Amino acid sequence: MNDRFQLPIYAIRDSLVRVAQAGGQRLVLRAPTGSGKSTQVPQMLLDAGIVPDGRRLALLEPRRLAARLLAARVAQERQTPLGEEVGYQIRFEDRTRPDTRIVYVTEGLLLRQMLSDPELRRVGVLVFDEFHERHLFGDVTLAMALQLQRTTRPDLTIIVMSATLDSQALETYLRPCTVLETEGRLYPVRTEYLARSPDPLRTPPWETAADATARLVRDEPDGDVLVFMPGAYEIHRTIQALNARPEIRGCTILPLHGELPPRDQDAAVAPTDRRKIIVATNVAETSLTIEGVRLVVDAGLARVARFDPYRGIDTLLIERISKASAEQRAGRAGRTAPGVCVRLWTEREQAEKAARDVPEIRRVDLAETALMLKAAGHVDVAAFPWFDAPDPKSLHRALTLLQDLGAVDERTGAITDLGRRMLAFPVHPRYSRMMLAAETYGCVRTAALIAALTQDRSLLVRRPGTDAEEHRERALGEERTSDLFLLMRAWLEAEARDYDLDHCRSLGIHAVAARQVGRTFDAFVRIAAGQGLALEDAPRFDDGVRRCLLAGFADQVGRRLDGGTLRCDLVHGRRGVIERASVVRASQLVVAADVREVESGGGRDLDVLLSNVTAIEPTWLEELFPGAMVEEPRVRLDPDTKRVTADTVRRYHDLVLETKRGGTPGEAEAARILADEVIAGRCALKHWDHAVDQWIARVNGLARWCPELGVPPIGDDDRHLMIGQICVGATSVKDVKDRPVLPVVKSWLDHRQQALVAKHTPERLDLPNGRQAKVVYAESAPPTIAVRIQDLYGVERSLSIAMGRQPVTIQVLAPNFRPVQVTSDLETFWREGYPRVKRELQRKYPKHQWR
Ligand code: ADP
Ligand code: MG
Repeated sequence: MNDRFQLPIYAIRDSLVRVAQAGGQRLVLRAPTGSGKSTQVPQMLLDAGIVPDGRRLALLEPRRLAARLLAARVAQERQTPLGEEVGYQIRFEDRTRPDTRIVYVTEGLLLRQMLSDPELRRVGVLVFDEFHERHLFGDVTLAMALQLQRTTRPDLTIIVMSATLDSQALETYLRPCTVLETEGRLYPVRTEYLARSPDPLRTPPWETAADATARLVRDEPDGDVLVFMPGAYEIHRTIQALNARPEIRGCTILPLHGELPPRDQDAAVAPTDRRKIIVATNVAETSLTIEGVRLVVDAGLARVARFDPYRGIDTLLIERISKASAEQRAGRAGRTAPGVCVRLWTEREQAEKAARDVPEIRRVDLAETALMLKAAGHVDVAAFPWFDAPDPKSLHRALTLLQDLGAVDERTGAITDLGRRMLAFPVHPRYSRMMLAAETYGCVRTAALIAALTQDRSLLVRRPGTDAEEHRERALGEERTSDLFLLMRAWLEAEARDYDLDHCRSLGIHAVAARQVGRTFDAFVRIAAGQGLALEDAPRFDDGVRRCLLAGFADQVGRRLDGGTLRCDLVHGRRGVIERASVVRASQLVVAADVREVESGGGRDLDVLLSNVTAIEPTWLEELFPGAMVEEPRVRLDPDTKRVTADTVRRYHDLVLETKRGGTPGEAEAARILADEVIAGRCALKHWDHAVDQWIARVNGLARWCPELGVPPIGDDDRHLMIGQICVGATSVKDVKDRPVLPVVKSWLDHRQQALVAKHTPERLDLPNGRQAKVVYAESAPPTIAVRIQDLYGVERSLSIAMGRQPVTIQVLAPNFRPVQVTSDLETFWREGYPRVKRELQRKYPKHQWR
């Protein structure tokens, strides 16, 4: 076991020890995966006396799985029992003693420890492992640690390790810091691509992966295979597909992911006699070393959690991995000898890949983090010294949620007493809010159990088969009010039989998950007792529990669109569909503990899926959130009858709960709604005719030509007001259509103004022969008359209106009313145009009088 001293990381041991000796240093340590960072660096520092007596070296791991396995490995290397000199701490599991010197701890857990012990008195050296993965809690903990080192803990040594990192930004952030690098020993890896991209709908990724794996096993004589898949489900399907391939007979196939029980995880990384195929999620990308792997098959996919700040919805979608990530995965093949990596995508797709992954801080829900920062005294979370600042929109969402939950004071932005009490529970603030609300309803134990049931992997097997399903129903009884109640019954059943494997299996319950729920439940109950919450549940707790859920998930209330569908309107303008497996079928109103966007229909569609659903009563909304309830009249045009109707609508925020029909609409409001129909062009006023347009054109002309007369022009707004006026008293589109228009439009002006219009912008002009010519007005052209030549005899000079200021354009007509000339200058016409016109027309109409 002493060949560990041959690992590449020992090349920088002396420099590392020399720098760290001074204490209070900052170091960046970069070395490829497998060089010995995670297992050797802590031992080097401890053995060189860098970790001060009475203090420990804490290694921050992004994943629980890695923390546990690394601690076990290092304890084994040092030939000490796990949990003594070397231990680990993950949520609800502490395998350390007061004299433990090396502790592997998850980033989130250490961050919480910093809240109760801001000076981290027990830690002498803080090592951030896998920092390139850029998990949210890692980012935040690093920022807090740097601040600590600058203030009260100048002796704290901070080391940031990673396999890849474009470290320039990090170095600037850590300045002054020392950078140590080693190249490691990597054998060449031959990378192969697919010639053509398979259609994922015809050939799912597990089939493609199984083909590639079978081929590798056949063609390459040695080496274990590591297959990368996005999640537990795809791993399961891959293993099924592999079992059907004759080429891999004789191989041991093992899954590896975070949801497996520890025993199975251990088995996947342990040596075997037979050739091994490990099908893993990206836990095997960098955190874990699996000896003997020389062949890698990479599906190029990862399940990525994101939070959409625009809609306030979590997504957990399968995405294509980045180039950096693909590089790491390929590297796993070249640890012990030259290797092969088959990438299940084309070279062209490779060129289009993103260079690296988006750090978690730019994509996940920030509520829990924001609350922790507030508790640490960072009231202005945006001003926190972030390595990468979060999206302001996400931060805003998080802060709004914290306010809604009562964890943050709306006015000052500071954490409230309730918020501090919430932090005692290491869960998302929604669940801690729920557990504290349970105090009011006397159901703390039950709320704690529900919280425990939602923390890790699912308790119930998804498709247990008909036998188990029937058995489950018989044993657990009918449940219609909450998916969480069903989980609760299932867990109680498992616990009553002491998690008996056979019994659990017959009910489609994951026994291992159930046992884990039990531990989490105990932990929550302990915390609740420590918080002084009464632990005796009142009788009839059922409604109380549902109210608690509502308290934690007030912004995830949904209302079924109708009885026949599982589709719901959600508060804040969202829509979703209740998961088909949900037991809640009859209730109109529900609250969902999970609102998540997922692929459906074989990846073709996206659905916002509501799961862990609970039925609620409308009166509870009133009771819990009186401020969010609105009852108001809603007057609108009924799209069917085209009548204006008045309903009374009850809303919870923007979610309509109830519509009461049959009120009488107010006259003014009805008129406004009908006027909108007219203005939008959906309802024509029969009497808004040419005469009306002419009147308005005359008014506007006069206002333009003779402003001193004080006749106001009629603009679009005025027209809309007039339409409103016309609609007064009407209650339907039919009423409006026949309404008189001209009197209303005229009455816009008083009598004096109307008289001025009649006089100065006359409807007709008198001609010398006693006839009259009708003047046509337009908004953007001069007024015009059309007159036959004979009627113009005697009119020597040009015609005008508006006190002589506006010439009238004359359309000169032949005897047959055909226009022959347009002019506004009669003198010139008589002199120049007329003689020619006369010559032509006289021949055609010799009987007419020609002067
Ligand atoms: P790094 O953190 O740089 O990726 P590790 O410290 O995790 O490297 O591992 C260094 C080496 O130790 C690996 O290359 C492997 O040879 C060995 N090793 C680590 N963990 C195990 C394990 N569980 N079983 C067998 N060998 C292991
Ligand atoms: Mg490592």
